[in-house]
Amino acid sequence: MSASDSPVSNDLFNRALKLIPGGVNSPVRAFRSVGGTPFFTQSAKGARLTTADGRELIDYVCTWGPAIHGHNHPAIREAVAEALERGTSFGTPNPYEVEMAELIVDMVPSVEKVRMVNSGTEATMSAIRLARGATGRDKIIKFAGCYHGHVDSLLVKAGSGALTLGNPDSAGIPASFAGETIVLPYNDLGALQLAFSEHPEKIAGVIIEPYPANCGLILPQTGYLEALRELCTRHGTVLIFDEVMTGFRIAPGGVQEKTGVTPDLTCLGKIIGGGLPVGAFGGRADLMDHLAPLGPVYQAGTLSGNPLAMAAGITALKLLREGDPYKRLESSAKQLAIALKLAAANLGVALQVPQAGSMFGLYFADKPVTNFDEALASRTELFKPLFQCALDLGVYLPPSAYEACFVSTAHTVNDIARTAEVLTSAIKQIS
Ligand code: PLP
Repeated sequence: MSASDSPVSNDLFNRALKLIPGGVNSPVRAFRSVGGTPFFTQSAKGARLTTADGRELIDYVCTWGPAIHGHNHPAIREAVAEALERGTSFGTPNPYEVEMAELIVDMVPSVEKVRMVNSGTEATMSAIRLARGATGRDKIIKFAGCYHGHVDSLLVKAGSGALTLGNPDSAGIPASFAGETIVLPYNDLGALQLAFSEHPEKIAGVIIEPYPANCGLILPQTGYLEALRELCTRHGTVLIFDEVMTGFRIAPGGVQEKTGVTPDLTCLGKIIGGGLPVGAFGGRADLMDHLAPLGPVYQAGTLSGNPLAMAAGITALKLLREGDPYKRLESSAKQLAIALKLAAANLGVALQVPQAGSMFGLYFADKPVTNFDEALASRTELFKPLFQCALDLGVYLPPSAYEACFVSTAHTVNDIARTAEVLTSAIKQIS
């Protein structure tokens, strides 16, 4: 999409640049690593975004994951409109919160009790505080390339926008905070065992994206998550699955349902808000009962459990229980992965397309990527022309080599077929 095609977006971006740092309210939206000016979205419906300049794009960002039913789903819109009639926020408990908690507890294996917050960042921040408060220990293990929102102690070797912009260790975080975070390579059981033996009775929690999806998409080697579970149990350490991205996407109960590995705490977000701002953390009741007002771990939120967000999220979760959308979601993502692999193989381009459920990633590498260092070593410079070429042809991929692509139930057979053509042609152009 050239600058001359997008006068309205360009004008908006120039105005934004004067007032908003980098012109955006979340860094990766600035298109820094893929070049060009970001387009502004005027509206969105189903699988498509309509830009401020009137172009329609088939969208694989899906508002960074939440839009599993596509954009502006009529049932979600209706639920929000109905809730709106009653008011936007009450500051007291409301009936929607109870229904939401019932749904989450029913769908997510590890969750016996849950608390709603307003973002994934709040969920992970609160979960690690709870792990520390419940165990009386300070240290947290995280994994290189995993992103858990912009929490101080977790912005160490982080993925997502932090990695895209080249600052996985953010400025502004006191060394003493980061010093309580032990960063390990994903899929390396030896490193995990060593960390536990070097810090006996010091590790409060291990936080992990069970399928890391903020530095592409990495899948666990056989037995890795099971061994992690066993080590945490043996050492009295709280295992936290950050399923903000994978929750309700990989399966109704997320990766924990798919793998049968049950964490102590789970962080949720994205899909549970149906497109409105929401997060949640939940888990074993005995752990959750350390939270105020029952226990000494403080956590609160002016807008937590907001009725509009709850109404949207409840509807999104209920839609996932109608029929079996997961089969179709997975088959769409698989089709795209196969098309990409075929195009690359025919042209001699070394490309890996890891896929899980309705998510897939792209690595220009000659063997499957199993950790952060291998993701960094892939030929990310090829992503920029691929992204631009796809965009020119009407397909919007995430504007970073390190983000996963998402398919929604609104992507039709024709959308998938057209996207396969576009991606095949994009691979040809860059090879
Ligand atoms: N955890 C994971 C796995 C994420 O992917 C994200 C955001 O992309 C977060 C946490 C942070 O969520 P939020 O952006 O809602 O704060």
